[in-house]
Amino acid sequence: MTLRGRLTSAFLVVVLGPVLLGSIFVALTVGAVSRERTAERLDHAATTVSAAVSAFCGQLQAVADAVAVVPVTERSAVADQLIVRGLATAVRVTGPDQKTQAVRGSSREEVLGKGGWPAGWQDCAEPRGGAVTALAAVAYASDVTVMAAQRVDDALLARLGEAGGVTVALSATGPESDKEAIRELAAEPGSPLPLSLTVPASDPTFRYAILLLIVLVTALVAILAARWLARSTTRPLGDLAWAADRVANGDLDTRVPIPRPDELGRLAATFNRMTRELQSYVQALTASRDQLRRHLAILGDTLSSTHDLDRILPVILRTAMTATGARAGLLLLAEPDGLLAARCGAGLTGEWDVTAAELAQRRLIAGRGVLGTVAATGTPLRGTTGGAPDEPACESYLAVPICAPPNPEPEDGPEPGTLGVLALYDRLGGPGFEDTDLMTLRTFAGQAGVAVHNVRVHEEAQRLSLTDPLTGLWNYRYLREVLRREVERASRFGRMLTVLVLDLDHFKDVNDTYGHTAGDLVLGEFARRIRIGLREVDVAFRQGGEEFVVLLPETDAYGGVIVAERLGAAVREWPVPIDPRRPGLDDRVSITVSIGIAVFPEHGNTAQEVLDAADEALYAAKNAGRDTYRLAERGSFDPAAATSGGPQPPRQARGR
Ligand code: GH3
Ligand code: MG
Ligand code: MG
Repeated sequence: MTLRGRLTSAFLVVVLGPVLLGSIFVALTVGAVSRERTAERLDHAATTVSAAVSAFCGQLQAVADAVAVVPVTERSAVADQLIVRGLATAVRVTGPDQKTQAVRGSSREEVLGKGGWPAGWQDCAEPRGGAVTALAAVAYASDVTVMAAQRVDDALLARLGEAGGVTVALSATGPESDKEAIRELAAEPGSPLPLSLTVPASDPTFRYAILLLIVLVTALVAILAARWLARSTTRPLGDLAWAADRVANGDLDTRVPIPRPDELGRLAATFNRMTRELQSYVQALTASRDQLRRHLAILGDTLSSTHDLDRILPVILRTAMTATGARAGLLLLAEPDGLLAARCGAGLTGEWDVTAAELAQRRLIAGRGVLGTVAATGTPLRGTTGGAPDEPACESYLAVPICAPPNPEPEDGPEPGTLGVLALYDRLGGPGFEDTDLMTLRTFAGQAGVAVHNVRVHEEAQRLSLTDPLTGLWNYRYLREVLRREVERASRFGRMLTVLVLDLDHFKDVNDTYGHTAGDLVLGEFARRIRIGLREVDVAFRQGGEEFVVLLPETDAYGGVIVAERLGAAVREWPVPIDPRRPGLDDRVSITVSIGIAVFPEHGNTAQEVLDAADEALYAAKNAGRDTYRLAERGSFDPAAATSGGPQPPRQARGR
């Protein structure tokens, strides 16, 4: 059952119940009252009618007495006079012989010649039964008996009825009726007429009809009022329910009309305000979520696309600031020497509001100040007043360590230390950073630690894969990469590039004589001498075994020859000190090197062609007796011959 139905029913019960009970009570009361009133009327009428009948009797007695006392001769005249005056309808005078002496009045024929009581005459003093036609009173004189009678006819009964306000009839003749109330008056001395008094019974039907009409009208009005009341009460509630449903389904533009300034109106206004605030919260939340999403997208892109810390670190810092709503932030990484190097900052003020290059020069000491303590202990710090004096000024700060992920295999080595510190300053729109910010930032710093660690691992792997572990020079793989790049660059800018290929002479003998370890030592020393004999822009590689390559950018054949001579001398002139394995062996190894020289684009148009030309020149140098250099011949390079690996004719020797 709906609320409206319940309200309607309750109202109807409350209103119609008493109305129905009241009307039943009124109906019962009306019947009783009308019966009482009828009884009262009859009582009153009985008294009045009895009195009237007594009065008639008294009047008849007076007439009889009057006639009895006058002389015989005047009796008829007096009787006539009294009859004319209406005090009786008949007078009979009877002698001692019971003979009627005179009858005056209207009943003369009836009673003429009769002795005793005429039939139908009722004695006022001593009522007799039977049908009554007249009332009579008797007076006795010395000689006569005088009876005065009054005919009981409709006119008399009507007069009696008028006196009592009722309909009066002789008892025997009175009609029976349901609609009348009747009181029987028995004949008795003083009121000798047996009468029945009738009043029209008061008919309550009309009153009942009025009552029913009132009840019906009241019921109708109550039903209409209940419907109106229920509808006006429940409609705003229905509107509210509808609006709440829409809001629950995500339509935050929904508003309900405010009906009246009553409780429901207040509820509707509060609902609208609540929805409005919910909407603004949702908008703010959506905006910050979008911002966070953008930052996370940038973060993801950056982390997955680059291993460049200078690109990764600012994105990490920005994302952390956005996630916690910080005004400024600073990110530092631990250096091998134990210092903390500022790597990037955002929103910093005062002494820390400097360019990126200047910021990169800043160092903090681990274990000192807020940031140093975080780096040294690996525990986050949170505060509401500025940090250490030489750290960024702020009202509140939150600093967490950036830690490398733990070693999957503990026996691989010690747990990695703190990689750096991520610090945020002054939370926007709040007094300070909260526990949730700390948790967010710790989680985030964990991810950042993984990213930084990955970059470090990648850098190390890169370095290992491109360098030769024995000599520390770049390896053959990197040679191919650099040579291709350098040839491309020289080609684009129309510059020259010289390639030297170096091979130690009779190196096999060194191994054989002094052992492999000494051979390695010689190789390392040879590499060192190459390195120190070169310019900054020149690059040296170990191609394999005891063969090395040197790239001389922006250098022509002449420059290449000078370098070859210098390197040859640097090897030749200082024998390499070693540990002699056997007594009698020299503690120094004299070595020499043969060098082939080729120039781009003179001796080849591609990296491979230039390298092959230099190899050919090296071959020529070996053929020329070693410890010398040869320049590749101009235009004489034959790719087919070069790749066949067969012996080549000697080239023109420019060296010693
Ligand atoms: P040539 O003058 O013709 O170049 O004579 P060579 O003995 O130097 O040339 P060969 O190619 O016959 O010998 C190269 C030797 O270099 C063979 C190998 O024992 C030695 N060698 C190659 N790589 C290494 C290394 O890493 N360490 C040591 N100790 N020796 C190496
Ligand atoms: Mg060799
Ligand atoms: Mg050799």
